[in-house]
Amino acid sequence: MDKPAILIVEDEQKLSRVLQLELDYENYQTEIADNGKEALRLIQEKDWDLVLLDIMLPGLSGLEILRRTRRKDQETPIILLTARDQVYDKVSGLDQGANDYVTKPFQIEELLARIRVHLRQGKANHQNGGSQLVVGKLFVDLQSREVRREDREVELTPREFDLLVCLLKNKNIVLTREQLIEQVWGFDYFGDTNVVDVYIRYLRQKIDKGFEEPYIQTVRGVGYTIKG
Ligand code: CA
Repeated sequence: MDKPAILIVEDEQKLSRVLQLELDYENYQTEIADNGKEALRLIQEKDWDLVLLDIMLPGLSGLEILRRTRRKDQETPIILLTARDQVYDKVSGLDQGANDYVTKPFQIEELLARIRVHLRQGKANHQNGGSQLVVGKLFVDLQSREVRREDREVELTPREFDLLVCLLKNKNIVLTREQLIEQVWGFDYFGDTNVVDVYIRYLRQKIDKGFEEPYIQTVRGVGYTIKG
């Protein structure tokens, strides 16, 4: 199989070099763009399996690149590299179609895990037109919003559905309550993070209850995940 191609858009040379070394080591092919114009040119000229996109760049900003890319290409996974103080950029980046973000400084292992998830999803989306998420015998259709476990149809409220989709899209990654709040309830939610535990309990009742193998896992002191 061909090595997945990853474009690294980052103007801090030290960081882009480290990323390139790590990604080459993981058997990806990589190229670096260190300014916005070069990045846009490379994104348009070549076929990438994934793009790592810094937001603060000389030339064009990462968000502008994202906007222009998404006009023509909804599919290539894009992970934003953001600074801690760029909350606003993160939000508008996700709104504009970025698939994910990591906040600098990040652990390389976390980034690698996210890259793997999005490459897998990218491929799965390619195969089924982007409308289905499957883990084991749990099946979610994003278009019809139908949820099934084995032959049993599961009725979910919109919030439960969004929570399940979020867990499935990040399967095998442990999400903290804060991350789930951000992604499912939105950045403007200021209530208690206990609401996550409440909804996880609802979901378990509907999806795992009565089955031998539960899909939703609690990782004590950290958060929740779905293994698959
Ligand atoms: Ca930068």
